[in-house]
Amino acid sequence: MDCIFCKIVKKEVVKEIILENDSFLVFKDIHPKAETHVLIVLKEHIKSVDHVEKKDALVLGEIFLTAKEVAEKLDVSGNYKLAFNVGKEAGQLVDHIHMHLLAGEGKEVVGV
Ligand code: 5GP
Ligand code: ZN
Repeated sequence: MDCIFCKIVKKEVVKEIILENDSFLVFKDIHPKAETHVLIVLKEHIKSVDHVEKKDALVLGEIFLTAKEVAEKLDVSGNYKLAFNVGKEAGQLVDHIHMHLLAGEGKEVVGV
C-alpha cells in the first residue's frame, strides 16, 4: 500500500521522532500551521475515524494519553489544541488516521 504514514511508521522515510510507544508514532507536520504542530499517528493503518471499529477503541483511547505525554514533553501542557480531519472535504489529505496537536502562535487555525 502506498501510504506515506505507513512508510514513516516503518521507518522507510527518515523523520525526527518526538515520541514513540507501542501504538503511536509522533513527529512534526511537514507544513506546520502553528508554532508547534505535530502529528500523532496510529501505527496500524486505519483510514479515518469513519473506519474505526469497536475492537480499535482500547488502543485508540490511548491517543489521548499519548497527546498528554507529548504536550508535557513539548512544554505546552494546558494550552494546546487537538484535531482530526475526517474525509477529503473536511481537509483530510492523508488517509491514515492521525491526530493533530497544535500549540503556540497559530494554534487557533480552523483548518489544520
Ligand atoms: P490531514 O490533512 O490528513 O488531516 O493531515 C495530514 C498532515 O500531514 C498535513 O498537515 C500535512 O502537512 C502532513 N504531511 C503530509 N505528508 C507528510 C510527510 O511526508 N511528512 C510529514 N511530516 N507530514 C506530512
Ligand atoms: Zn497507512
